[in-house]
Amino acid sequence: MSDNTTPYLPEEMFGVVTASGSAPRAFISPQRYVQGLGVLDRLGEFLGLVGSTNAALLASSRAQQIEGARAERALTAEGIPSRFATFGGDCTLDEVDTHVNRLRGSAVDVIVSLGGGKCVDTGKAVAHRLGLPVVVVPTLASNDAPCSALSVMYRTDGTSTGVEFYPNSPALVLVDTGIIASAPERFLVSGMGDAMATWYEARVAIENPLGFSSIRGRPTIAAAAIGEACAATLFEHGVGAAAAVAAGIVDSSLEDVVEANTLLSGIGFESGGLAAAHGVAQSCNAVAQVHDNYLHGEMVAFGLLTQLVMEERESEARRVAEFFCSVGLPAHLGHLSLAPTDTHSLTVIADGTVNFPTTPNMPMRVDRPFVLSAFAEAHRIGTAAVSDLGDVAYRRHHA
Ligand SMILES: [Zn+2]
Repeated sequence: MSDNTTPYLPEEMFGVVTASGSAPRAFISPQRYVQGLGVLDRLGEFLGLVGSTNAALLASSRAQQIEGARAERALTAEGIPSRFATFGGDCTLDEVDTHVNRLRGSAVDVIVSLGGGKCVDTGKAVAHRLGLPVVVVPTLASNDAPCSALSVMYRTDGTSTGVEFYPNSPALVLVDTGIIASAPERFLVSGMGDAMATWYEARVAIENPLGFSSIRGRPTIAAAAIGEACAATLFEHGVGAAAAVAAGIVDSSLEDVVEANTLLSGIGFESGGLAAAHGVAQSCNAVAQVHDNYLHGEMVAFGLLTQLVMEERESEARRVAEFFCSVGLPAHLGHLSLAPTDTHSLTVIADGTVNFPTTPNMPMRVDRPFVLSAFAEAHRIGTAAVSDLGDVAYRRHHA
C-alpha cells in the first residue's frame, strides 16, 4: 500500500469562483453520528456498517485501561480483531509517522480514534495517510474535533503548525454520553464556549458576500440552521447539562448539549465558517499564562465577546456574557489571567488576530487599534455582567 501523502487543499476544490462571481455552496459532514448512554459497547455492530473487519484502536495508555478495554470487548463480541496503538499525547508529524510506519502493510482496515481532541486529530491524520476510514470515539465534549475532516497539527513544544485537511470526513462518530458525564465539568463547559461561537462566526461568513467557510466554499442554509440551533440549545440547556456532569448523570439536557458541542458545532464551524472569535482564541496561545492555564473553548469565549463588540452587537454581547457567567466560562480579561493594562500581551493577541486566516470574514477593516479597543469594550461588558450575576461557576472550575 502506498501512503497517501499528497496535501489536500479544500480551497482548490470548493474555493473556485463560479460564473456567478462567488464560490459554490459546499457542505460536508461525517457519514454517521451516533450518540447515547453506553453506545461504546456496541462499537463492533457499528463497525459492521463501516464495513471494517480489523481495527487499530488509537488511545492513550490511560484510555486503553478503561474505554479502550470496553471497545476491545465490543469488537471481540462481533468477531473483529483489534490492536492498540498508544497515543503519545500530542498531534505532531512524528507521532503520526510512528503509527503509520507500524500499521503500514498490516491487516488493519479502520482506525478507531478514542480520546480527546489531539488523539482524534492524530487518528484522522494516520487514517488519511494509510487510505483508511477513521472512526472517532471522543472521551470529552470539550472541542469540535470529532466531526471535522481536518487536524490541527502541533510542534513538540506545543505551538501549532497549522491545519491539515482531508478529502474524507470520519466514517462514524460514536459518542458515549456516559463517558462524557464522567469527565470533569470544566471540559463540557469549555466545549460550550467553542460551540457558542459557532453561530455568531458562521453568521459573519454568511452575511459577508465575500465570506467563506472552513472548507472555503460559501456557507449553506443547512450549515446556518445547524449553527443557530447550536446556540439556541446552549442557551436553553447549558446550565442543566453542566449540573448533570457535576452530578455524574446523563439526562436530556446533557444529551442536547453534547450534540451541540460535538455535532452541531463541528458541522457549523466546518461548513458555516469562522471569523474573529477563533482568531482571538488561537492568538491567545502565544501568551504563556493563557496557553498554559486555559482550554481552547475558554479562549474562544472571550474571543466571541470581542467579535460581537467589533460587530457593534452590544445586547448580544451582554446576553452571551451572562451565559458565560452562568456556566463558568471566561467573561472578562481577568478570567484569562490577563489585565487590561497588560499592553504587551494584548498587543501580541491583537496582532495574531489581525493576521488570522478567518479574520478577513469580518466585514470591516480589522487592525491592531480596532482589536485593542474591542478587547477593552468586551472586558467592560463582561465585567458588568459578572458584577450583576457573579462568577461562582467560573471560580468552581478554577479553584
Ligand atoms: Zn474551536
